[in-house]
Amino acid sequence: MRMAVVGTGYVGLVSGVCFANLGHAVLCVDKDREKIDMLNAGEIPIYEPGLQAIVQANREAERLAFTTDLADAVGRSDLVILAVGTPSLPNGEADLGYIAQAALEVGEAMNDYKIVIVKSTVPVGTNEKIRAILSRASAYPFDVVSVPEFLREGSAVQDTLQPDRIVIGADSHEAASIVTELHRPLTDQIFVTDIRSAEMIKYASNAFLATKISFINEIANICEKVGADVTQVAAGMGRDRRIGPSFLSAGIGYGGSCFPKDTQALIQIAGNVDYDFKLLKSVVDVNRDQRNNVIRKMESFIGDLSGRTIAVWGLAFKPNTDDVREAPSLDIIAELIQRGAIVRAYDPVATDNFRKAYDHPKIVWCADALTVVDGADALCLLTEWPEFAEADLERIGERMKQAVLFDGRNVFRKERLEEAHFRYYSIGRPHLN
Ligand code: NAD
Repeated sequence: MRMAVVGTGYVGLVSGVCFANLGHAVLCVDKDREKIDMLNAGEIPIYEPGLQAIVQANREAERLAFTTDLADAVGRSDLVILAVGTPSLPNGEADLGYIAQAALEVGEAMNDYKIVIVKSTVPVGTNEKIRAILSRASAYPFDVVSVPEFLREGSAVQDTLQPDRIVIGADSHEAASIVTELHRPLTDQIFVTDIRSAEMIKYASNAFLATKISFINEIANICEKVGADVTQVAAGMGRDRRIGPSFLSAGIGYGGSCFPKDTQALIQIAGNVDYDFKLLKSVVDVNRDQRNNVIRKMESFIGDLSGRTIAVWGLAFKPNTDDVREAPSLDIIAELIQRGAIVRAYDPVATDNFRKAYDHPKIVWCADALTVVDGADALCLLTEWPEFAEADLERIGERMKQAVLFDGRNVFRKERLEEAHFRYYSIGRPHLN
């Protein structure tokens, strides 16, 4: 099939490329000319493992192209996928401005029957609003189908080519079967439902995962007080198949472009129908506190942070991505600076994005995991990049003013730090003072 993907970001680019890989002819559209120029020059604007090779292979096979010309791309396609951003408004609601504008432009460009797939995460009822925008802009027939996206940054290509499920929300059997065909050979994973349920599945899934994280973080905080070890607790809990082992890693909380905004949006969606989603509000509060906990812990173990040098390992909201949207590092570093600390920071790929989001004269940007610790009063691990787990701790300790590690992701075993003569503080596990 021929398709246009509108919005060539983390979701649009990966889905477009993966559909090309399934054999479809894909035109990826973005209004950001710089992004499209980079892609046309063979460069990938985001860091995503495995993406470069699959983009190159599908461009060479002439199944994939990039353009800023939305009208032309829509005119040449049977299907249009909307994958533009739906960021948070200041009140937490999803900002539907980008998707409304994209829908309008698609409607104006329609020249025949089209299926419009909504992949962006949108509040319940939005697909109907998109249908209304398309109807006003176009006299041609069309169907709107909700296909929410579940890929995870860092493993986006693999998640798209080997998904747990593909949710198709449709109110037309014909459109649902065309969209099912589009996903061949991944049809075993398909779950067809109505449009409103599909929209809700996406929010409910992210809210549930966020709940699991905040739950284990609260258990971790209690473990610290009662002398239990949260990694042991999580391992024991995870053996129960009703619970499962995933998303039970205690730490400094979730971040990224999805969980924070989607939890806030679901609280608003509930509020708009007079439902007070108390549980999810607590999940959000716990997550916010968890970032502050690490600062409190530093103060209680190394004292006043003013004038202290704190080395930071990791800025991305999780490993294997350069995305820093809503990353815990943003709040934690800003708070360290607020308290008078000097920050030395290093991330393997996310430094440029972090500096665009937040920069300060008191941050020293460092080029590797070793030099970043030079003269530091403490090292604080915020993102669990594999290279940190593999670091030579003896050498690290020698370069620091004092060998102190705050491990915000429970990456290390206490015994390893004991051998390297570190004081070690992690989340929900016994300290090494
Ligand atoms: P993004 O910000 O990386 O990309 C969005 C792109 O859309 C940008 O490049 C922007 O220039 C482009 N755009 C906006 N309006 C346009 C228009 N009218 N015409 C052409 N291009 C336009 O966003 P993302 O992270 O890819 O997220 C997209 C959607 O997918 C969001 O709703 C998000 O919640 C959802 N989602 C994201 C992830 C993730 O891990 N990033 C996972 C699942 C779902």
